[in-house]
Order: sequence, then structure tokens, then C-alpha cells
Amino acid sequence: MNYYSLNKKAPNTSFANAVIKGLAPDRGLYFPESITPLPASFFENIDNKSYTEIAFETIKQFVSPEIPETILKTIIEETLSFDFPIIKLSNDISTLELFHGPTMAFKDVGARFMARCLGYFNKNNDHDVTVLVATSGDTGGAVANGFLNIKGVNVVILYPSGKVSDVQEKQLTTLGQNITALEVDGVFDDCQDMVKKAFLDESLTSKMQLTSANSINVARWLPQLFYFMFAYQQLHKQHDDIVFSIPSGNFGNVCAGMIAQQLGLPIKHFIASNNANNVVTEYLKTKNYMPKPSVQTISNAMDVGNPSNFIRIQEIYKNDFKRLKDNLSSYSYTDNETKAAMLEIYKQYNYIADPHGAVGYLGCKDYLKTHVNTHCVFLETAHPTKFLNVVEAIIDTKLELPQQIKTVINKEKVATQVSTYDDLKTFLLNTI
Ligand SMILES: *Cc1c(COP(=O)(O)O)cnc(C)c1O
Repeated sequence: MNYYSLNKKAPNTSFANAVIKGLAPDRGLYFPESITPLPASFFENIDNKSYTEIAFETIKQFVSPEIPETILKTIIEETLSFDFPIIKLSNDISTLELFHGPTMAFKDVGARFMARCLGYFNKNNDHDVTVLVATSGDTGGAVANGFLNIKGVNVVILYPSGKVSDVQEKQLTTLGQNITALEVDGVFDDCQDMVKKAFLDESLTSKMQLTSANSINVARWLPQLFYFMFAYQQLHKQHDDIVFSIPSGNFGNVCAGMIAQQLGLPIKHFIASNNANNVVTEYLKTKNYMPKPSVQTISNAMDVGNPSNFIRIQEIYKNDFKRLKDNLSSYSYTDNETKAAMLEIYKQYNYIADPHGAVGYLGCKDYLKTHVNTHCVFLETAHPTKFLNVVEAIIDTKLELPQQIKTVINKEKVATQVSTYDDLKTFLLNTI
């Protein structure tokens, strides 16, 4: 499959090159040249298929011929080595748990898939690729874990000192090997600015191949369409009209769900559930897209003021506001509403949601007010123990730590301190 740049000022390129480069030379995001719907028989027979068969059939067109089928099968089997259960809260609302991977956030799926693709493409190169990524929390852990020991790939993660949770910090600073953590004296935006500067710095990019591992990279983003298929497989016999409420930050998940829908998956509607960072909620109300600086919330993985994947969504609908609005609703919630929702979910359904999932739950509730005979699935994007202090305080209960978290929490943190872009550059040129 070839990909084009959404800035339309760079040549089309192969899947392999899109993965290695991350962004097109004109700084645009890559988008697949075509999306061919799956045959009706795929959905008719979905009950008989395993996760890996579903994933293989849905992603094949986007990655072949660059990744041969036998290699793709192995990559998928290794990527999807955990479960994606639907938990029913009521006849109207379910949650899709995306947190059963090694770092307990949905980002494990994309990070593991991308790591293996990049490893495959780079296995015969004598030059390593360096994945440079800024994280506000979950991306760092998932990328560190997914890329650990992948040959030919080095990973450098920048995170804001004191601004990620204890668990998140341990997940990205304790692995060693080809993974390096840089602790930045600043906030997430400072980390992000340094990464952007590095990608534009020719005195650096002429000496090393840098790429990104957030959802702007097609190999991180596209496999996120799998779990909409897995949810459908588990629910389609009981429910005809299925909608998804997606706690959103950079809108990678919403956009991946829309690709699943383009492939023929009968999803009736999407709900983008936002915290106070509500650029898209406002856009659907006013038709004005107005990025703004992010504000800090308890669902911090969604503290994004200018969602990077929104441009891909505009491309799917060819900038047709009405078509988009027919398929996407959006609501925004305060931290107090989110906390009240966490308590309600716990009291009413005996289920413990993390703050991001709780925002998704609120989106379901609002949408269902005006849509009867609809089943709403909210994505549970991270395990509640990743936000231990917040969750325990709200539901006033001690949480049992899962094995994945127990194994990292007592390991020793190793991180290099950086304060300025020059620190980062010196580190990259001398150490990597
Ligand atoms: C990254 C993340 C999100 C936001 O996902 P996008 O695809 O960027 O919209 C939501 N919840 C959690 C827990 C995350 O880690």
C-alpha cells in the first residue's frame, strides 16, 4: 500500500517508508491511498475467527506487499498476546477493556505492532533507527515495552519530571537495553517541543534516522482498528445498533474506528468524549476549529489542545462538515463530572473505571438520552491502577495491583536529566 501526505507537497511512498519516516518530508501525516471494504462474508463469519485472523484480514491491505503474509501473521500473533474483553454494565452500556497488555493501556497494541514492523524493515540495514518520543504518561511505557530488544532500533523517551504517575515513570525508566529515558526539567509541551525541534534539525537528521512512535506513525495508528472488530464480534448477536464512545486526546482511536467503519464494520455512530480540552466538541458546535493550549485534568492522557489526528478525520469525510457531524458527536466533561461518574459506575455497577474510561461512560449516557435501542460501548483505555491515587481517593477503596504493575514498581529508575534542546542534541549525537 502506498501512502500520501495530507500536506500534499511530498511524493507518495510505501508503507515501509511511511513507518521509517513517521512524518512526510512536507511535515504532513501519511494516509493510505485507498481503503477497500472487506467482503460481506468477513462479517458474516466473524464468529468463527480468532483475534489474529480478524487482525490479519483487516490490516493486510495496508501493509502488503512490504510485509509478506507469513511475517505479518507472526507480527500479529506476537502483538495480540492478551485479551480484549467486553464487560456489560447494563443492557445499554458496555465497556471494552483495552488494558490487558504489558503496560495496561491501549497503546500496547499499536506500539507492539509498530516495533515489529520497524524491526522487520530495519533488520538488514547497517544503520539503526532512533525512535524519539515525548510522553505525558502512557505512550512512554508502551513504547519502551513494545520496542525492548528490537534489533536495529534505539528508543529515546522524553518525559516531564514529576508530571507522570509513579507507575508510568517506572514503566519507562526501568527496562534498560535499547531504551533510554530522558527526564526533562519542564512540562509535557517542553518535551514535545524538543522532539519537534530534533526532527527539523538537519545537523541531527543528516547523522541519524529519527522516527516517531505516537499515533502520527501509521504503524502505531492503524492496528488500533482491530479492537473495534473484536468488540463487534462479542456484541453483534445481542445488539443491532452499536455505537462507540471514545475518550479522546489526539484522536488516533476515533480515527482508527472510522477506518474500521470504512472497511464495512457496521458501527452506527462515534462519540468523542473529551475532558476540558474540548477543541473538537467546540468544532462540532461552531464549525470553527480553534486549537488552544492544553489544560491539566485528572484524565491527563487526553490533555491535548490540538489533536494531531483530526486532519486524518477531515480527510475521511473530505472536509464535509455535515457528513462528519452525522457520524460523530462530541461532549466535554469537567474533572468533577468525571469523579462523580467514577463513583456512579462503582456504586451502580460495581465496576472500577479509570478517569479516561469514566469520561467515555459519560459520553454514552449523554448520547443514549436521545437514542433509544442503541448499545453504547465506551473504551476503557487504561487500567485504573495506573491512576492509583486518584481512583482510590474517589471510590474510597484500596485497589489490588495487577501483576504487570507489581513487577515494575520495585525496579530501580534510570533516567538522564535534560533541561534544554542542546542537552538533548548532545545526548543523541554522543550516546546513541
Ligand atoms: C493515549 C490515551 C488516550 C487518548 O487516545 P487518542 O487516540 O490519542 O485520542 C486516552 N486514554 C488513555 C488512557 C490514553 O493513554
